[in-house]
Amino acid sequence: ALTAGIVGLPNVGKSTLFNAITQAGAESANYPFCTIDPNVGIVEVPDQRLQKLTELVEPDKTVPTAFEFTDIAGIVEGASKGEGLGNKFLSHIRQVDAITHVVRCFADDNITHVSGSVDPIRDIQVINLELILADLETVEKRIGRVEKMARQKDKEAAAEFDILEKLRDAFENERPARSVELTKEQQKIAKGLHLLTMKPVLYAANVSEEEIIDPDANPYVKQVKDFAAAEGSEVIIVCAKIESEIAELEGDEKQEFLKELGILESGLDQLIKAAYKLLGLETYFTAGKQEVRAWTIRKGTKAPQAAGVIHTDFERGFIRAEIVSYEDLITAGSMTTAKENGKVRLEGKEYIVQDGDVIHFRFNV
Ligand code: GDP
Repeated sequence: ALTAGIVGLPNVGKSTLFNAITQAGAESANYPFCTIDPNVGIVEVPDQRLQKLTELVEPDKTVPTAFEFTDIAGIVEGASKGEGLGNKFLSHIRQVDAITHVVRCFADDNITHVSGSVDPIRDIQVINLELILADLETVEKRIGRVEKMARQKDKEAAAEFDILEKLRDAFENERPARSVELTKEQQKIAKGLHLLTMKPVLYAANVSEEEIIDPDANPYVKQVKDFAAAEGSEVIIVCAKIESEIAELEGDEKQEFLKELGILESGLDQLIKAAYKLLGLETYFTAGKQEVRAWTIRKGTKAPQAAGVIHTDFERGFIRAEIVSYEDLITAGSMTTAKENGKVRLEGKEYIVQDGDVIHFRFNV
């Protein structure tokens, strides 16, 4: 399963946020694919569409889909040189598919900042630099292997050498690999290097309780937004402390509390959705009388493999899929009407499942 890693300097609110995720999180029994590990939090994906489908179908139960967040502790300056838990930290980052980078934007004199003052951009750069240095080492090693062959006009080696030089140049200028422009073909080759700074990132700006209503009044938030915009990353604003309180509440209580705060959607819910998207994940639904359920696939998954997420037998015996889009189903008001209106399609093995498809699979046992 794909997982989003949470990183950040000490005392930025990482554990508070991770605890909120774990508390809001799901019973692992529902999600057998998830890892059982204290550093992994299983989180259900908030999705309004699931409520709407439940109202429409009135099933016995409703099951949201879920994915994993991994808490990656132990980054300090010098990690790339093995300081602190350096190597362990880097190897944990290597295993995640996207990075949620928590940055401290709240001022609080009672809580020490590792570098003595609040400065989110410096904090971001401390971590980014460690990752860039680790990647530089990877690239230099690789250059050592292919340079000679490239000079001897070995075509493949020359193509790779080109990419490696581009990347080295970026790293020497303290820019991450994801900022380097590569063609589709080059991206494929670069992927084989498993670079840390190639992973997609989103920033979670942790603001104080007072600022959550009007976070743009916080100058640090603006700095983070500008920085993220320059590298094409997203920023989600959270107050870790409030999120950990919200996470303890259930359904209606949660809505009430958010209303009191004057917030439409909790920062944590926004963060979860953004991380899901960053991982390249999408949702399709099954909607039967017994169960309405959301399922996770990677963007671009074909119908048989999507069926395989439910059960391997569904993939093996796949015949075809009966599909109606979520919007068409809601507009029609019932499956019967949707069928009458010709909105239910029969799709075969090559069909690429779309986010929001409501699917009934037909298969041989
Ligand atoms: P970590 O080292 O990054 O995991 O940080 P922690 O989650 O342990 O938080 C460090 C300290 O900051 C704790 O005392 C938290 O209660 C406090 N903290 C975290 N988030 C917030 C916040 O949004 N507002 C305030 N005032 N304090 C926070």
